[in-house]
Amino acid sequence: MNIHEYQAKALFEKFGVPVPKGASATNAAECITALAGLPEGPTMVKSQIHAGGRGKGTFTDGFKGGVKFCKTKAEAKDLAAKMLGNTLVTAQTGPAGRKVGTVYFTVASDIKKEYYLAILLDRVTSRPVIVASTEGGVEIEKVAHETPEKLFKVVVDPAYGLADFQVRDLVTRLGFTPAEGKNAARMIRSLYAFYWATDAAMVEINPLITTPTGDVLALDAKVSFDDNALFRHPEIVALRDLNEEDPKEIEASKHALSYIALDGTIACLVNGAGLAMSTMDIIKHFGGSPANFLDVGGGASKDQVVAAFKIILGDANVRGIFVNIFGGIMDCYVIASGIVEAVKAVGLKLPLVVRLEGNNVAAGKQTLADSGLPIVSGDSMADAAQKIVKLAA
Ligand code: GDP
Ligand code: MG
Repeated sequence: MNIHEYQAKALFEKFGVPVPKGASATNAAECITALAGLPEGPTMVKSQIHAGGRGKGTFTDGFKGGVKFCKTKAEAKDLAAKMLGNTLVTAQTGPAGRKVGTVYFTVASDIKKEYYLAILLDRVTSRPVIVASTEGGVEIEKVAHETPEKLFKVVVDPAYGLADFQVRDLVTRLGFTPAEGKNAARMIRSLYAFYWATDAAMVEINPLITTPTGDVLALDAKVSFDDNALFRHPEIVALRDLNEEDPKEIEASKHALSYIALDGTIACLVNGAGLAMSTMDIIKHFGGSPANFLDVGGGASKDQVVAAFKIILGDANVRGIFVNIFGGIMDCYVIASGIVEAVKAVGLKLPLVVRLEGNNVAAGKQTLADSGLPIVSGDSMADAAQKIVKLAA
C-alpha cells in the first residue's frame, strides 16, 4: 500500500525524521486555512499523487510542473488552484496521468546539497538495505547505471538492528560536515526506526537535503507498506487513498482475489501465484501478451470465479480469456460450475479457453461440455495457451 508525501511526512515527524513545515488542502477554502498556518515567504506547492517525477511532470491542460517554487503565499494559492482537479502526467504515471485531489504547501527550504536515502528489503540477502547517494534529486536508476560508485549500500542484520558503526560509515561516505553528520546520523536512525516499526516495504527520500545552516531535511517522501502486515497497523490502513488505485484491483481485494492489471490483451484466471506467473510466461512464449495477473487462490468459490470474470471484463483491452486451473486443493467441478455460471451471468462474447487438470477433472470437463457454451477446452497448458493466443489475435 502506498501513501502520499504529506501523509508520509506526518509519520516521519512522529519518528523524529525532520521535514519542512507544511499543510495539505483539497479545495480553495482549505488552501486558505493551510497557508494561514505557514509563515510568509517562499513556499512550495506540491501535487499529491502516488507517483514520482512530479516536478518534471506536465498537466494535461499544458501547465508545467507538479511541484512549484513560489516567492509568496499568494502565488502559492494561485498555483494550487491550477493543480487541484487537474491531471498530472509524469514519467511514472503512464500517459493517462493522475488527477490531483490534494496539494501540499511547505515552507521552501534553501538547498545546499541534495542527497538520496532509501531503505528497502534486499531480496538477495533477505535483509533491510539502506541505499544512499551523494547524487540526490535525480533518478536513482540513472545513478546506479552511470555512476554506481556514488551509490552506497548498507545491509542491516534484522535481529541486531542498525549498528552505530554502519550509520557512521554511511555518514562518512556521504561526505557531510561534522555538524551535518550529527543531524544526518540522527535522521538515518530515525528513518530506520520508522521503516521497522511500520512494516514498510520501502522508504525513499529523494532529495534529502542539507541547508546552509547545517540542517538535514527530508524534502520528498515516498513510502510503501507491506500489504501482508497491514492488519497490524489500522492507523496506516486509514491513510489509504482509493482514488489512487485501479478500481479493478480494489474490487478484486474485496473478493480476496490477487489481481494486478497489465497492458496486454489475454486475461488470465489462475489458481496459485506460481501457476499464474508461468501462465503469463507461456502466453508470451506463444506470442500473446497477458492483460492481468489474477490468482483466485487455492480454494476459490463459485462467487469468486464470477467476481473474477466481471473484473476481467472491466478491462476494455481484453480480447480473450485463458482459465488455467490445477486442482490440487481446488475441485475442478466447482471451478467449472463457476465458469459456466459466470459466462452466463456476464453474457460472455469473448473467446474463452479452459485448461483443467487434477482433482475431479472429469466432472469438471463434463460440466463445461454439457453447458452448451462455446468454451474451448485445452488438453495441456501449451495447447491451451496456443489456442487462446490464436483466438485473441
Ligand atoms: P518529485 O519530482 O515527485 O520527486 O518531487 P520532489 O518533492 O522531489 O520535488 C522535486 C524537486 O523540487 C526536488 O528535487 C527539489 O529540487 C525541488 N524542491 C522541492 N522542495 C523544495 C524546496 O523546499 N526548496 C527548493 N529550493 N527546491 C525544492
Ligand atoms: Mg523527489
